[in-house]
Amino acid sequence: MYPESQCVELVNKLAALHGIKPAQVLVSNGLDNIITLIGMLLIEEGAEVIYGDASFPMYAIMTLKMGGVPVGIPMTERMELDLGAFAAAITEKTKLIFVCNPNNPTGTIKKTGEVESFLKKVPDHAVVVFDEAYFDYVDTDDYSSMLGVAAQRENVIALRTFSKIYGLAGVRVGYLVANEELVRMMLKIREPFPVNRIAQAGAVAALGDNEFVERSRKVNADGKQQYTRAFGEMGLKYYETHANFIYVEIDKSPSDVFNLMLRDGVIIRPQAIPGYKGALRISFGTREENERTIVALKKALSA
Ligand SMILES: *Cc1c(COP(=O)(O)O)cnc(C)c1O
Repeated sequence: MYPESQCVELVNKLAALHGIKPAQVLVSNGLDNIITLIGMLLIEEGAEVIYGDASFPMYAIMTLKMGGVPVGIPMTERMELDLGAFAAAITEKTKLIFVCNPNNPTGTIKKTGEVESFLKKVPDHAVVVFDEAYFDYVDTDDYSSMLGVAAQRENVIALRTFSKIYGLAGVRVGYLVANEELVRMMLKIREPFPVNRIAQAGAVAALGDNEFVERSRKVNADGKQQYTRAFGEMGLKYYETHANFIYVEIDKSPSDVFNLMLRDGVIIRPQAIPGYKGALRISFGTREENERTIVALKKALSA
């Protein structure tokens, strides 16, 4: 038997969880797939797409694939998305704006007030995509999900995934929340069976597993503390993170440090983004994994 095309059980559960209608939810084969679908639907030759230039790379890749024009906006000094500059960059050709909140790779967030005043400046012809892949790790009251807003407004989309807090990256399930018309159009261009039965069953089960989510959050919070303490002792500059990784600046070449750590069996993400100081993005693991990573980092930095 083929899988349920529209992931009915999962969609109904998600709608109930978020207090929205099933027709406002679209599940697909991970957010990477959903970002491509958004591009297929909305980007035509010459359409401009605004995003942070230290943000999730798929936004620019998708834009180029669809013949659009990527408009990367420099980060603020605190390595946050500069929503004021986003608004100033909007033109008649702007079709999509990606607000990754919390942002990957910096872990920084945009607070509720800044997001709300930004949304007021966005004209109807531009669609704002709030990528909330790391929503569950946010560690402050001064943050609001735009999921409820996305269900209501014509030109707002919110993205969530099972790859991060639920630990199901290998299973490939992500979803979008938007108004019913946008979801209907997406379903027309999406292939019929992008989410296999096993993935659908796994995601439904994950939604009921609060104990796992709590443990995930706890391990993450402990990891954050472990790294910030170590970086403090090492005199390294890092940015306040609300994700399951941390962005830390280094004086050495990030790719050299990456290669040295790789030899010790530790894989981190070197960040050599033009215009910014070299940095590493390090994901949080278990206490032992974090300790091993810190040891490998110290060794690589003093090599
Ligand atoms: C991991 C990630 C994604 C992709 O998620 P998948 O559902 O695994 O494809 C999308 N956006 C951001 C910001 C991410 O970090």
